[in-house]
Amino acid sequence: MTHIVASRPPVLLATRSAGKLRELRPLFDALRVPVMDLEELGIPYDSEEDGVEQFTTFEENAVAKARYFYEVSGGIATVADDSGLEVTALGGAPGVRSKRWARDRGATAVGAGAPDGAPDGAPDGAVDAANNVELARAMTGVSDRRARYVCAAAYIGLGRELVERGEVAGEILDAGRGSHGFGYDPYFLAGELGRTFGEATGDEKTAVSHRARAFRALLAAVLRSD
Ligand code: IMP
Repeated sequence: MTHIVASRPPVLLATRSAGKLRELRPLFDALRVPVMDLEELGIPYDSEEDGVEQFTTFEENAVAKARYFYEVSGGIATVADDSGLEVTALGGAPGVRSKRWARDRGATAVGAGAPDGAPDGAPDGAVDAANNVELARAMTGVSDRRARYVCAAAYIGLGRELVERGEVAGEILDAGRGSHGFGYDPYFLAGELGRTFGEATGDEKTAVSHRARAFRALLAAVLRSD
């Protein structure tokens, strides 16, 4: 007798961040959930994307991003995240503005014009570097160094919308350490690791990171409700 096993259709991983894609693919692979990214699906960068994350919470932005790409892809089940760094002494900033923080504060990233879909047209690395200069400046002479990374991960598909949050606590160093990861990672000393996310290997970061926690919870919820 022949059994036909229905294989799960791929889920769209809706991010333009190479750093996020590097971290997310292994999480989906581990659960044997096939994924495609925007490039694989042939969805070109559109400046309209930059206006999608206009809300004040990570959850609202993650859901808005997932909804946007669900529509653009013509109804493929989609996951998206919104994430950022919250620094206690800065009243929770940069928060939902993490990617655009230096630009908000009047700094410009080197290399504007590169076609990688970064928010101001600058390559991811230049945006991250400008943000880190801004973070080090804002934290000069500040004694309360507490911070946390937050990630909200959203899923839209098969008539369902789900969103889950993950967090990791740490502190901000006055000088960056390590070259792994992306974004603010060299400055973020993860309490659970005793080293920065810039020093941690991919596996070490994934063991405790806000993104891994949010996506593990999201995938568990998706698979539970299948
Ligand atoms: P999003 O693409 O709107 O979610 O913005 C994410 C931004 O938050 C990134 O560009 C980084 O500045 C920061 N961020 C979020 N997660 C991480 C992380 O895991 N490491 C370093 N920076 C992060």
